Amino acid sequence: MRFVLQRYKMRDTHYDLHIHSDCSDGAASVHEIASRANTLNLETIALADHFWPSLGSRQGGENIIMSRRREIEIAGSEYPALEVLDCTEVDIQSDGSLAPVAGGLGQFDLIIGSFHWASDSTQWASTLSKVVKKRQFDILGHWDGFLSSYREEDGDIAARVLAEAGVAIELNEKYMSEHTGFFEQAEDYDCIFTLGSDSHSLDTIGQLDNGRKMAADFSLRVVDPAYFLKQRK
Ligand SMILES: [Zn+2]
Ligand SMILES: [Zn+2]
Repeated sequence: MRFVLQRYKMRDTHYDLHIHSDCSDGAASVHEIASRANTLNLETIALADHFWPSLGSRQGGENIIMSRRREIEIAGSEYPALEVLDCTEVDIQSDGSLAPVAGGLGQFDLIIGSFHWASDSTQWASTLSKVVKKRQFDILGHWDGFLSSYREEDGDIAARVLAEAGVAIELNEKYMSEHTGFFEQAEDYDCIFTLGSDSHSLDTIGQLDNGRKMAADFSLRVVDPAYFLKQRK
């Protein structure tokens, strides 16, 4: 895979790094998602299901993770032009830890850490400062999706710690960014970004128009999936 790290250009992304299947709270099977992504000519998708006890997960342990992994492998052989990443979206907890996942986080290709509880930006930045130090996740999912307020000084702290840890900030299509002033701070610290639809059904897969527009408008540094897979080796 090619290593790409550059300012965003409208034509660049052929991926969707945030899709939920029926292995958590999505409606479609891994097979149906892969088929749709292949039809859309996407090059890479990340299946980012929640696993117990993260919010949106189905109750169950490693068996769901393992059976999904087999489905991902089958989809990979059915659609050789499509790369299907074995990813998970894990809750960032208020004590600055990630929710546990059966079998541990090391088994996944990519990890999205997300706040699924409302907080003001001061608590958000302080929790983020703690959790990124553990270097357990690659992408901050829907970064302001649960923010009840935003202060620039908190955004400054968040942008700095995310940049230092090399954690990407997700431009999420389901939770569109409201506090766009943060992008200027993120740019000051040279933060990296990814795009994800947060699809829970087939019809929204690959829909990243708002994220693409944000990336172009604010000249954000969007990375492709190879960036993370290289870091992991
Ligand atoms: Zn989420
Ligand atoms: Zn999600």
